[in-house]
Amino acid sequence: MPKGHHYGRAQTRAYTTEYHRISAKVFKGVLTAPLGGYTLNSDYLSREHKHLTLTESDNGIRLMTFTINDKPHQIALKLDSSSASNKLYITCPYCHKRRQHLYVIKTAYACRECLNLHYASQSERINERLMRRIRKLRKELWGYDWPEINNMFQQVAYWPKPKFMRWKTFEQKRDKITELENRYWPMAVTQFKTNFGDHFMADYNN
Ligand SMILES: [Zn+2]
Repeated sequence: MPKGHHYGRAQTRAYTTEYHRISAKVFKGVLTAPLGGYTLNSDYLSREHKHLTLTESDNGIRLMTFTINDKPHQIALKLDSSSASNKLYITCPYCHKRRQHLYVIKTAYACRECLNLHYASQSERINERLMRRIRKLRKELWGYDWPEINNMFQQVAYWPKPKFMRWKTFEQKRDKITELENRYWPMAVTQFKTNFGDHFMADYNN
């Protein structure tokens, strides 16, 4: 898929941080271990993601095979002998490229590219935090049941004063939230542009 062609996918953009992953470096010991069956010691992996059979190919490459969802997932261990550090890589069962990490989804191990996962940028993480903070402060003022409490498209400027709260206190708290909302929006708009790429911009140029 060419870059910039996201066609409405922005809403469901998935990030690497949302998934568990396995790292190549934890398999160092497997390079010299006896061939046979092994179980990974991990709380977040399913039974199928834990059990592997270690074999070796004719040309001496070690292979770990996981059977997930009735499908064999073969992961090769590859040492990069060109670098002094002898870095270890694991290959993706789908594209067979060398990777430092493979991500865990219900039915597979696969690499970031095959799963179309994105790295969250610094600004996206900052904006996420800001949004969580705005929602938290809103809940403190209007409670969890207020219908628009999580709706970032609604701004709090005209929301009513809670009963029994002093006007002065209320205005201070509300103004604080408004100030955060004003910081949130310019960043969010930049991100929408980034996520929608050319398609977002096209609407405004026509
Ligand atoms: Zn892959």
